[in-house]
Amino acid sequence: MVLADIDLANLDLKPILKTQTSNLIDILHSIYTEINVYFFILEKDNSFILEELPTNKGQVIDSVSFEASVIVKIQTQKEFSSIIIQNHENAELFLKNPGAGRGYSVISPIGNSGALSGFLLSILPLDCKPEDIDLDIFNKIANSFSTNSVASTLLEKYKGRSNHLSVMLEVNTHLNIAATKIDFLYEISRFGKYFLHFDRAVLILHPEDTPEYFIVDSIEGDETGLQQGMSYPVFNSLVSRSIITGQYFIFKKSHEELPEGIYRTGDYEEYDYAQVIGFPLEKVKNGPGVLVLESHNEHPTKQSEISIFEMVSQSLGAALTRFSLYERLNNYATIDTLTHLYNLRALKQRFEEELARASRYQNSLVVLFLDLDKFKSINDTYGHLMGDLVLRETSQIIRDSIRTSDIPGRYGGEEFVVIMVNADADACMASARRICSAIHDHQYEMNEIVVQNKISIGLSEFPQDGETMQELIQSADAAMYTAKRQGGNQVVKYSKGMVPKSQT
Ligand code: GH3
Ligand code: MG
Ligand code: MG
Repeated sequence: MVLADIDLANLDLKPILKTQTSNLIDILHSIYTEINVYFFILEKDNSFILEELPTNKGQVIDSVSFEASVIVKIQTQKEFSSIIIQNHENAELFLKNPGAGRGYSVISPIGNSGALSGFLLSILPLDCKPEDIDLDIFNKIANSFSTNSVASTLLEKYKGRSNHLSVMLEVNTHLNIAATKIDFLYEISRFGKYFLHFDRAVLILHPEDTPEYFIVDSIEGDETGLQQGMSYPVFNSLVSRSIITGQYFIFKKSHEELPEGIYRTGDYEEYDYAQVIGFPLEKVKNGPGVLVLESHNEHPTKQSEISIFEMVSQSLGAALTRFSLYERLNNYATIDTLTHLYNLRALKQRFEEELARASRYQNSLVVLFLDLDKFKSINDTYGHLMGDLVLRETSQIIRDSIRTSDIPGRYGGEEFVVIMVNADADACMASARRICSAIHDHQYEMNEIVVQNKISIGLSEFPQDGETMQELIQSADAAMYTAKRQGGNQVVKYSKGMVPKSQT
């Protein structure tokens, strides 16, 4: 986007807000796949209207009155936080679709200092229990919404007034899509200099678990006297002013004497600066961090520029929340939700890592390929829930039968792979046989119905049965298929000439 391209007078901020909103709701969806999330904003007529979003699925309501009792309840909260409600007790929310009246929902208020500007309604699936819900995630998402709505309100107010606002608009758009903290700081430095003078930008984080310290997280500019990753006591530092109060501070050398130092006692001898401005990442006492701008010379600072930077630093705060949510998401993304084993993606990644290690150090590596026998008939006879239980308990048996250094994963529906490192093939054969007989002996029980099941296991060894992941899995699969053809319920070690089912 080139600055000249922006038609400030006719600028529509909604699309920007919309993409951000969709991104945030997507995060919720990827954690709780089965929930339906709706975003309501307060309109001038005092009702909350459903925002049209691509994520809206099977819409149940389109507006909610200001006086709905649950709305009154969240309005009177001192500090906004999400609550779980029983749908049938809040029928006024679901009038248009009484069928949605069973189960639970989460309401997450959006707004600032007591002024409710909207809320998220997340309808939980019927089998979801309130204790399974991590309200912290909902709160974090709602906070990001609040910050974004402040940013867009401010932009709306300033829009069309001056040229530097066009720059700011561009910054804000970039900030909201910045992929990493470094990107973020880089964007701030690049654009921020249009209207606030500074020579170095430093991002200070103030972790919740060690509140008496802060960390120099990233530095954009000359790094003299500062070290990335260092932590310093909050006490007596200039930056602590923002941490403690949740407000910005401006320090000018000609106006006041520096009490102790910028970051730590006595450090003022290490930098050649005359002005320091700090903006909190969230406007709360003891908040998550500060954006610090230092300059060698003093410069006039206008209130409008300060307001804009307050907004930028809060966008940064919201982005940090988003980054940490994505990290958490990544965790969810490596574990199979049904069996709690590694999913295919993570399994393949671990496989490549272990394979590289094995060939570098000439360590042994053995692969087991496991496939339940006649599993389909369990689904067909007793239903999918019983099938799922068999998969879960089988996974537990596999885990209990191997060493903690072995890596078990779910390869597909009822197929598992275990990577065994630094163990000879005989020991691995013994583990595999243990799995086989433990599954044979196990009674899978649900609602007083008991079923039994068997498993076939193939084993391949690096490097003689394959040098790549594909070759090793294919050999183990071929050995497993041989075990099946011999009647199942056994372990077979790969030997030349065996072929997987797909090649017969
Ligand atoms: P074989 O002895 O030849 O291995 O036969 P099989 O029935 O075990 O194998 P097949 O591959 O024909 O069937 C696998 C079945 O696994 C089919 C599919 O419906 C079921 N399945 C896959 N994933 C899941 C799941 O997550 N839950 C449940 N309950 N069933 C699943
Ligand atoms: Mg199969
Ligand atoms: Mg099978």
